[in-house]
This record gives sequence, C-alpha cells and structure tokens, in this order.
Amino acid sequence: MSSPIVDELLRRNKEYADSVHKPLPLLHGSDGKLRQGSRAVIGQYHFPSQRRPRKSDSTMAHTYDRLSVTCADPRIIPESFLGFRLPNNSPMGRLELTTSTYLAIPVIRVIGGRAIHAIENIVGLDAAFGVDTVVLVHHKDCGLTHFDEARLKATLRKRFPEQGAMIETIAFGAIGKLGQSLVDDAVFIKQHPLVRGEVVVKGFMYDIEGGLLEEVV
Ligand SMILES: [Zn+2]
Repeated sequence: MSSPIVDELLRRNKEYADSVHKPLPLLHGSDGKLRQGSRAVIGQYHFPSQRRPRKSDSTMAHTYDRLSVTCADPRIIPESFLGFRLPNNSPMGRLELTTSTYLAIPVIRVIGGRAIHAIENIVGLDAAFGVDTVVLVHHKDCGLTHFDEARLKATLRKRFPEQGAMIETIAFGAIGKLGQSLVDDAVFIKQHPLVRGEVVVKGFMYDIEGGLLEEVV
C-alpha cells in the first residue's frame, strides 16, 4: 500500500537504479562453480600480500573470508569507516574511492554489534563460504550502554503482559562496560560449538567523535 515513506524509498531506489546501478557479479563464476571463501572474490582482485592494489583495480571486489559485525545504529556505517568501496560507486563509494578502498566484505549489523545476535549469521556464512576472520566493532555512545536488560524487559512486559515467560528468555546484549563487551563477545564466538577453532576473532572500539578504531581484542 502506498504511503509517503514507501513512495520516497521507491523514488530514491529508482533514481539509483537509473543513474548508478550496474549489474553485480553473481556467486557462480564463469566456470559454473560457486565461489567460496577467498575464492569468492569477484573481479580484478589481487591479495594485498601479492601486491599493492592499483588504481586500475576498478572492479568491485567482494570477499567472504572475513566479515564484520557492527551495531545497527545508523551512525555506525562500516563501509565508510572501514573504507570499503560500495557497489557501483554509489555516492558514498565515490567519497571513499582511494587505492586502499577496494574491498567489500559481508557486514552483519545487529543491536550493539553483539555476538549473541550475530552468531547464526556467522555460522551460516562460514558453512556457506568459509569465514576466516570475524571483525567485531562496538562503539562509544552505543544505545545498549544506555539501557539495561531489566529496563528493556519491563517495557516489553508492559506492552505484552501475557508474554512474560517469552520475554524472560530474551537477551538483548545490554552493555555494562564497553570494551569488556568486545572481550566477552570474542570469547563467546571462539567458544561456540559451531565455530571452527581456526577462525580468528578481532574486536575494535569505534570512536564516533574521532572516527578511529581502537584494537581491543
Ligand atoms: Zn550501538
């Protein structure tokens, strides 16, 4: 059903499709085989260890062998602060276009960037494509540092008084101590029974004022 929001979203999408979009590469290569892990790289991609990327590497490169878990907060845009080039050089992609910004990786955005919300995505992507590295990013002034589990559950109990038992089973991942949240999430992922022992988990704190990532784990 039409609404001002729907109309606006569709108008913006049409503008993008008409002016910027080009067909994106498919997961099956020209040999008909599904691209997996580092082989899922699409386009004129060369690993940084082999040589530095050149400006001529103009083709979009996707890889599935590493992925990022970040907060759903609209201020936290990993494609921007991690310097990914966005598909089809969309307006943000043009802003970010330098020789070092040529890579795109899967991004899982969940509240708080908490691993409990992302774990099924991580396990599923690993089963499908092979994930070598998980990059966790939490950020200062995260909404989940301003609420605790009890407060969120109290809100839900008020709205859904009949659903108390279900509400009790939920963990929102409220953050008591930023930084420790990254340590806890890295441990959670590493100890998960469906995560392979060789998967590397890194944790970074994103400073929304300075724009820098600080390595925590
Ligand atoms: Zn957040």
